[in-house]
Amino acid sequence: TKVTQVIKDAQNKTLFSFEILPPLKGESIHSLFEAIEPLMEFKPPFIDVTYHREEYIYKKRENGLLEKISTRKRPGTVGICAAIMNRFHVDAVPHIICGGFTKEETENALIDLSFLGIENVLVLRGDPIKTEPTFSPEPDGHHYATDLLKQVCNMNKGMYLDEEMKTPIATEFCIGVAGYPEKHFEAPNLRTDIKYLKKKQELGADYVVTQMFFDNEKYCDWVNKCREEGITIPIIPGLKPITTKKQITVLPRIFHIDIPDALAEAVENCKTDAEAKQVGIEWCIQQSKELMKFGVPVLHYYSMGKSDTVKKIASALF
Ligand code: FAD
Repeated sequence: TKVTQVIKDAQNKTLFSFEILPPLKGESIHSLFEAIEPLMEFKPPFIDVTYHREEYIYKKRENGLLEKISTRKRPGTVGICAAIMNRFHVDAVPHIICGGFTKEETENALIDLSFLGIENVLVLRGDPIKTEPTFSPEPDGHHYATDLLKQVCNMNKGMYLDEEMKTPIATEFCIGVAGYPEKHFEAPNLRTDIKYLKKKQELGADYVVTQMFFDNEKYCDWVNKCREEGITIPIIPGLKPITTKKQITVLPRIFHIDIPDALAEAVENCKTDAEAKQVGIEWCIQQSKELMKFGVPVLHYYSMGKSDTVKKIASALF
């Protein structure tokens, strides 16, 4: 089922969903199943599966210089989506990214996804990898999520890269995109960032999922700004519960988000990670309750592959 359809069918009731990461290369899928299983009682209509580009592979040329030859990617997203649908009878939403993919590889991946009966994709640019200072696409790849979005929308109209194709089948993906209540770190300002989000809607995006945030006021202000700018598609807040003490400094660095004073102080005063986790759970439950009142269609949790924290939060809410 399409994400937009499950939101419509819920008739203003807030739904529960979560995101998982493919295991590191070589690790088993079973720990992932064990992380999903306890969350199924909260009836998620969909589960997101991220995609990861890990690093560049270089080859040393005769003149001694290093030549970038390809990107190492973490496998699993497509297989995990199929396995989840098979085992749990729930829709899986693969993330698809620009980074590391040529347009042809993207086209082929989308064909695989549609053959598997996957109806939703979250379209993203992807982050720069550790070895690159700024994001750089493959020579024949997409630079922005908007470019990748155009390709998916074209395929939804039956337009493939080879325009000579005789009987191309139109795919029917429902398309999610990313939004940033505290601004994407590269955007010069919030207004410009919202302008590009609006562009995603104009190009055919069906819904938005946000970056994590810890301050509901910032989220609500941003949603109101988006609405004023004419963004009408559903916006789904993404929430990450704090689970360790050091996350209050790590998360702002990685995700370019702020931790409110009260939360930072409460975590700093904790003696152990176990205490910090309890503070994180309580904060996230409170955030979730307020967001339900604000009328969000879905509460989407970043589980980071572990279910115990998200289960405690969901138990208090759903
Ligand atoms: P874009 O929309 O392309 O935006 C990037 C920057 O360019 C922004 O500053 C924007 O304002 C600007 N911009 C946008 N469009 C244009 C345009 N047409 N012209 C000029 N400027 C433009 N990363 C992964 O690698 N794998 C994942 O699975 C993954 N999942 C995520 C899930 C969610 C819900 C979120 C919020 C993020 C996720 N990310 C993931 C991280 C994401 O890839 C990064 O935040 C990345 O830096 C930006 O992605 P984007 O799709 O927002 O990019």
